Amino acid sequence: MAFSIGVDLGGTNLRIAAVDEHGKMLEKITTGTDVRRERDQVIAEMCDAVRALCGRAAGELRGIGIGVPGIIDMRTGLLRESPNLPGWHDYPVRDKIEHNLGTMVVLENDANAAALGEFWLGAARDVSSMCMITLGTGVGGGLVLGGEIWHGMAGMAGEIGHMTIEPEGPPCGCGSRGCLEQFASATAVVRMARAAIADGSAPELARAAGQTPELSARMVYQMALEGDRAAQRTFDVVGRALGIAIAALVNVFNLPMYVVGGGVASAWHVFSPTLLEEVRRRSFVYRATAAGDTPMHGTHTIVTRALLGSDAGLYGAARLPWIEQGKSKK
Ligand SMILES: [Zn+2]
Repeated sequence: MAFSIGVDLGGTNLRIAAVDEHGKMLEKITTGTDVRRERDQVIAEMCDAVRALCGRAAGELRGIGIGVPGIIDMRTGLLRESPNLPGWHDYPVRDKIEHNLGTMVVLENDANAAALGEFWLGAARDVSSMCMITLGTGVGGGLVLGGEIWHGMAGMAGEIGHMTIEPEGPPCGCGSRGCLEQFASATAVVRMARAAIADGSAPELARAAGQTPELSARMVYQMALEGDRAAQRTFDVVGRALGIAIAALVNVFNLPMYVVGGGVASAWHVFSPTLLEEVRRRSFVYRATAAGDTPMHGTHTIVTRALLGSDAGLYGAARLPWIEQGKSKK
């Protein structure tokens, strides 16, 4: 049996999985490697962990796919720039790992890898094209069009997190203002909740925040579930911002599916009514194609939550070597 390895370099720790060609996860490990450490050290520990995993997963290794936060030069396998991995600027990640392990390595942006995972095995497995929005510390995006990741000219396509929602909104790390990321990321949820606490409109949140060293998006979500209005209002902003962005995407692309994933998507039930209402209000393409109670894949526009959780990026990364091999056969 043949298998591939998927690596997720996106989080604080390194996660690695062995996946067979049908998408069955054979092994999965989370290493203690802190990806913020020195890059050669991280690569060496990653290679050791991959070797250990290959020893346990019986079969033939076909290649390694790695999801990396940042901008990748797809041609050379250089990591051009990464906000999470500042010391890796123009680092030849692909060549280093290929040299160390002697097998094919494919790099991909982590948000694109997550999109590919949901496309292969998750929410979008029955459609031919999809758009994924990943709500984490930031907001990532990925487009799969006709079965292939859409990279754009310089590998920079899919920056959905930096679509403008409010022209004069909060400044964003990208240099613009009021980006989707400033309203729908975990960071934004915490910022908005803190603002509500500061202006006195969120007494329950203030009490909860006072009991812990650090307010988290998950706490705000818990409070919203328990019926706290201030917490719910925070997620109304998340839903509205996502709705504005998705309405624009639906109007531009007319794709069959838009998938919302990442940690903040755990709160889907809290923010999705606002999101869907906003999409319906703003997109005539959505109104003309929205599903009723029986959505048909490929016929209706479906806006839904991701199914694979934090494993989406691992599955997508593991899929990359198979796609690359398919290309080289043509
Ligand atoms: Zn931005």
